Amino acid sequence: MTRRLIVVGGGLAGITAALTAADAGASVTLLEGRPRLGGATFSFRRGGRWLDNGQHVFLRCCTEYRWFLDRIGSTGDTVLQDRLDVPVLTPWGTTGRLRRSALPSPLHLSAALSRYPFLTLAGRARVGVAALALKRLDPEDPRLDEVTFGSWLDRFGVTARERAAMWDLVGVATINLTAEHASLAVATKVFRTGLLDTNDGADIGWSKVPLQKLHGDAAQRALEDAKVDVRLRSRVAAVEPLPGGGFTVDSDGGTLHADGVVIAVPHEDAARLLPAGALLLDDRPADPTVLAGLGSSPIVNLHVVYDRPVFTEDFAAGLGSPLQWVFDRSDNLGLERGRYLAVSLSAAEDEIDLTQHQLRDRFLPALERLIPATRSARVEEFVVTKERTATFRAAPGSARLRPYARTALPGLALAGSWTATGWPATMESAVRSGLAAAHVTLPSLDLDPGRVLPTTPSGAFPERTTTP
Ligand SMILES: Cc1cc2nc3c(=O)[nH]c(=O)nc-3n(C[C@H](O)[C@H](O)[C@H](O)COP(=O)(O)OP(=O)(O)OC[C@H]3O[C@@H](n4cnc5c(N)ncnc54)[C@H](O)[C@@H]3O)c2cc1C
Repeated sequence: MTRRLIVVGGGLAGITAALTAADAGASVTLLEGRPRLGGATFSFRRGGRWLDNGQHVFLRCCTEYRWFLDRIGSTGDTVLQDRLDVPVLTPWGTTGRLRRSALPSPLHLSAALSRYPFLTLAGRARVGVAALALKRLDPEDPRLDEVTFGSWLDRFGVTARERAAMWDLVGVATINLTAEHASLAVATKVFRTGLLDTNDGADIGWSKVPLQKLHGDAAQRALEDAKVDVRLRSRVAAVEPLPGGGFTVDSDGGTLHADGVVIAVPHEDAARLLPAGALLLDDRPADPTVLAGLGSSPIVNLHVVYDRPVFTEDFAAGLGSPLQWVFDRSDNLGLERGRYLAVSLSAAEDEIDLTQHQLRDRFLPALERLIPATRSARVEEFVVTKERTATFRAAPGSARLRPYARTALPGLALAGSWTATGWPATMESAVRSGLAAAHVTLPSLDLDPGRVLPTTPSGAFPERTTTP
């Protein structure tokens, strides 16, 4: 008889776990509290236009996320740069460009750095020395999670200007914390995997269509094709183990029974759903309330529609400006005449409590200074999206609060971008966690994870599901 797996949560982690388990032959039910799939990646309709809750990008090194796009048939709706190429704009008019060459790492960035106008000769040398030192660090070394990336950069005499021009430019958007607050462990992972281990890891990709279409809607079709029973508006209130094995899952739709369960919800929700004694941290039982220590870091996005073309790039980073990254998403809206710019503000502690008016007063002039063509354009729409708990706070000490997929209860697994994937809270982390959770639960359904998991890019994935 086919054995049943229930996946709680329809974000990228839950979708991945459900698809993988179904591909391995499990009978899968996916319970999602909201009326749509896609979790933290979604779109909403405003004035007849689709806007995303927040600009999302991925890198070439996000191998499992790119596999996921293929699996749900969405790769064709994305763009991936041939070569990393980031225009860097300033309010004083100087522009720089971080474009990699085809040379092997770390030489692939040497030409760009030698021309990068925001670093002095001595600054370039300091960036080079710090980069080579970073390449020798092991992100899994627990000592790296005891210090901030900023304090480590200080050892190389890196100035505040160099930190802004190089390290925070990349780090804030990927880690959602500045170097001053981010754990050295997660910074090492990001810079090594993206920029230092290979020459093409940081080539940037993004969606050409609204996120809902890219992920949630495409995944719904893929899940239905894989015979997964998807139940939306099904909020789960409790997961309980049964004495003889298996679980009951209480949701809005009633009580269901399952042989295995994957809890793929944000860490605050997981803390409420985990049965007593299930959570393992460092292979030891832990009280789920400790997960609150992962905290949260906000992201704010500003969506500005202008009445005419104002920008010639697909995106750009801002330096010396409160604007971090600006993306032209006009194609997303199918705009013919006007332009839609999405401004992404990560680690947005200073912005999250500002009103729409305050954000408008602060950021429209900043946009005019960064992109002069906006000065003569009319703003047709200004919309703010705020995600107060966008990601967990990847500060020192966070690594030991991230559990692996395996729990103390056979058949019960955890997934979510906040779990111990080694990655910051990204789409790649979410997909990796979903694969790991499927790997952990399949044997308790008498299914062989080896039947499907080697089809993922890393082959022997998942590398780790428990502490070695
Ligand atoms: C504004 C913003 C910008 C971002 N930018 C990027 C980026 O550029 N690149 C990148 O890689 N990542 C980015 N991220 C992070 C990325 O979106 C997330 O890490 C990832 O999508 C998380 O996926 P997940 O499946 O782990 O969790 P979620 O997407 O949070 O999914 C969890 C799901 O569980 C459901 N749920 C919760 N409780 C219950 C319950 N009791 N019962 C049933 N369902 C429940 C929720 O409704 C949700 O759908 C960004 C995030 C935000 C918010």
